[in-house]
Amino acid sequence: MGKVKALYMDAQENPFIACPECKDTDRHGQVPSEEFKWVCGIQEPFEVWVECENCKGLGEIERDWEDEDA
Ligand SMILES: [Zn+2]
Repeated sequence: MGKVKALYMDAQENPFIACPECKDTDRHGQVPSEEFKWVCGIQEPFEVWVECENCKGLGEIERDWEDEDA
């Protein structure tokens, strides 16, 4: 039990939080985007997964402690 508690404490002090931009996606660190490609003379949209710019594909960002205190 002591080990579990230690892990829990680590989580509380983890300076990283789930990236709000991509945490709800199936692929952490990536966000759905749309691209177009020409098919028979017309542009067809298709979904692509791109690296999340907010977290640089990490799926988590560094917590902004100062901002929370404000
Ligand atoms: Zn992200």
